[in-house]
Amino acid sequence: MADIIQLLPDHVANQIAAGEVVQRPSSVVKELLENAIDADATIIKLIIKDAGKTLVQVIDDGKGMSVTDARLSFERHATSKIRTADDLFQLHTKGFRGEALASIAAIAHVELKTKQSHDEVGTSIIIEGSHITSQDVVVTPKGTSISVKNLFFNIPARRNFLKSNVVELRHVIDEFHRVALAHPNISFIFYNNGSEIFNLPVSNYRQRIVNVFGSKTNEKLVPVIEDTEVLKISGFVGKPEFAKKTRGEQYFFVNDRFIKSAYLNHAIVSAFDGLLKNGMHPSYFLNLTVNPQSIDINIHPTKTEIKFDDEHTLYALLRSAVKHSLGQFNIAPVLDFERDPNLDTPYDYNQKTSHTPAIEVDRSYNPFKDDHISGKQLTAFKKQTLSNWDSLYVGLESRGTKTEHDFSEVHFESYNNTESLFEDDKSLDSPQTTYQLHNKYIVSTIKSGMLIMDQHRAHQRILYEDFLENLTVRGASSQQLLFPLQLHFSKQDIEIIKQLKEDLEHTGFIFSSVNNETIEITGVPISIPESEVSIILEQLISDVENEVPDSHFSVTDLLAKSLAKSLAIKNGQPLKKSEQEHLVNSLFACKEPNVSPTNRTTFVTMSVDELDKKFI
Ligand code: ADP
Ligand code: MG
Repeated sequence: MADIIQLLPDHVANQIAAGEVVQRPSSVVKELLENAIDADATIIKLIIKDAGKTLVQVIDDGKGMSVTDARLSFERHATSKIRTADDLFQLHTKGFRGEALASIAAIAHVELKTKQSHDEVGTSIIIEGSHITSQDVVVTPKGTSISVKNLFFNIPARRNFLKSNVVELRHVIDEFHRVALAHPNISFIFYNNGSEIFNLPVSNYRQRIVNVFGSKTNEKLVPVIEDTEVLKISGFVGKPEFAKKTRGEQYFFVNDRFIKSAYLNHAIVSAFDGLLKNGMHPSYFLNLTVNPQSIDINIHPTKTEIKFDDEHTLYALLRSAVKHSLGQFNIAPVLDFERDPNLDTPYDYNQKTSHTPAIEVDRSYNPFKDDHISGKQLTAFKKQTLSNWDSLYVGLESRGTKTEHDFSEVHFESYNNTESLFEDDKSLDSPQTTYQLHNKYIVSTIKSGMLIMDQHRAHQRILYEDFLENLTVRGASSQQLLFPLQLHFSKQDIEIIKQLKEDLEHTGFIFSSVNNETIEITGVPISIPESEVSIILEQLISDVENEVPDSHFSVTDLLAKSLAKSLAIKNGQPLKKSEQEHLVNSLFACKEPNVSPTNRTTFVTMSVDELDKKFI
């Protein structure tokens, strides 16, 4: 048989490599910014359009490239940064694999303009899908400008895989932060769709953090410094009282490179031991300097994970340095978890009392509102359903064996006569229909046995369907606030709020202004207590950021889910009998009562037969 193995043509090999290096616009941003830094730029401009899907351009004032280098830079494994494998352990540059430009040029339209300082004129190269379409002499300032247009133009599957602009922009901003925070000695300017989102002058590290995350950040930072032979640490941790419900501002830089490390993260979290409420995450911005020989960066194509020779020592040093700082700056005594939450409100007035969120289930919701059912029909309907309780609940157990209509029947019945849902008519006098177990589960008798419901998940389902309806069908009503609420957010969070503004308005939010770092709200949805607004928005922003990959993204759906998650009664909250019953009834008025919005079981049932078996 003839030989069948062939070497892949370069453009195919490049496309395959691009799969690893370039996942989304933010990957291009990272590679181009890093190249500019490696070229010793002092000012770097990042310009993007449509979250980078249409354009990512990076302009630097670095050392530029010669004509030959400009051409070579797009070849795979073409790099000026290492010569031998040993150099891998002496790295002082971000790049070294020599595959970023080759990969990017394989899947986009790329335009390069570059000039070295001692040259009169520069070089321009246009390359599309690995094919050079033009090369010219140009007049251009010293440095390099690379535009990457129409990402994945030749791989529609990858292009379709990209998320909404909100999500992609978020990734780009994340990547920008990582680079900008690692290099306060370089000035960065960032434009999105023609408007400037960041303008970061050269500054010290603290000032850079403040410029990136907003002026309010300054008061939150506690310096951390440690200088040992194996490890130098410098940077800041956030004061415990400013810890966030969501992991947001957590940055490790090792030798000026952003890295992710669950292990080192644990070292920090354990240093905060006893200072944080459950579920809160500390912020940190820490630079670690280690001997380049003691780390291996070449274990991951995007170089965000690295291998340390002696992780245990780093862990111990990091933990003790952070602990020491927190102690030194007297963090512990000012902490009091029980204090009045009003004192913590980020808005301008604190006089208003906060009220505990009550269960707010929409009593006016009636899926039959278009159906006109007469009194007579109603009685007949009631009789029929009452004689059928057994089968109704069998239907609930196994989805699919009953039609959706069955649930509606339950709802309708329950709506008019709550108690009869779970008991025979004869026991109506003093029904004991629900019972709360461990402030977490609602146990209810049903004719075939019993039902156990998870109160948090059930309430999430109820609120979720309610919000969805508000967002898509009816306009929700708002409660006007007596005083406008001013909330501070970081710039990138403001970007997300801007994108969600319209949807949020459908839920009942009224924004009077959305500025650089502040938003002003004059109305909130009726179901949202004023004191919770900032937490809810923070949660929403984090949900948008962490939107599960591969899931179908819809802002409306995400918003409804996020609001439901934030507002649903928590486990551990005692509920009055009437609230318990209302919860049970409202759940069965839902279109999909069986699962929470995140697809978790909301209730289980156990029949008397099953119970009997347990007592054999
Ligand atoms: P790597 O960064 O791993 O070397 P790249 O594909 O990113 O690989 O870049 C290839 C080469 O092109 C670099 O080694 C560098 O010499 C040159 N280069 C890329 N971008 C720039 C830039 N902005 N300024 C100067 N030279 C650059
Ligand atoms: Mg590079």
